[in-house]
Amino acid sequence: MAVSFSLTIPSTGTTTSEYVSSKSQLKSKLLFVFGAYRQPKTISLSVRPMGSSSSSSQKPDTTQAVGGVDYASLSDEEWKKQLTGEQFYITRQKGTERAFTGEYWNTKTPGTYHCICCDTPLFESSTKFDSGTGWPSYYQPIGNNVKSKLDLSIFFMPRQEVLCGVCDAHLGHVFDDGPRPTGKRYCINSASLKLKPE
Ligand SMILES: [Zn+2]
Repeated sequence: MAVSFSLTIPSTGTTTSEYVSSKSQLKSKLLFVFGAYRQPKTISLSVRPMGSSSSSSQKPDTTQAVGGVDYASLSDEEWKKQLTGEQFYITRQKGTERAFTGEYWNTKTPGTYHCICCDTPLFESSTKFDSGTGWPSYYQPIGNNVKSKLDLSIFFMPRQEVLCGVCDAHLGHVFDDGPRPTGKRYCINSASLKLKPE
């Protein structure tokens, strides 16, 4: 079954005034009030077939759902059957695990991090870096297997939420203060992930 997404999101500004981290959010909250936003743009996302390797290419690939399951139709009760309480809270209710407590924040094992909900490969260990935040952090997802959307849950701090491109699991947030080559910091909850070692 093919799945494709087309959604409209505001792109994040890249000015340093929008720098965000848990340590600086209070300092920078006023800057956010004045942070410039770019015009919303329409982007198309597609999902890389499970098991395919990552590459630097960002071109959409053939779309394919993992296992042919229509994840959008799964109820909370069905999700609860296959997830732990913490996994359900984070992935389906947009929770956040406490820093330095998750399974993978300091993991350096080579392998691929998959979605805990639908098994889609999301991040390669080769793009993981030590952000010092206490959450596993990556500078690049696999293909277009994750998507992002504006999160206004903290009114003075607009953020870009990161979700699984297949099942909409909440993964974490992405910020513009990451390392080269992308400059992105995907700050992800360990509970959203399942590492498959090489
Ligand atoms: Zn998923």
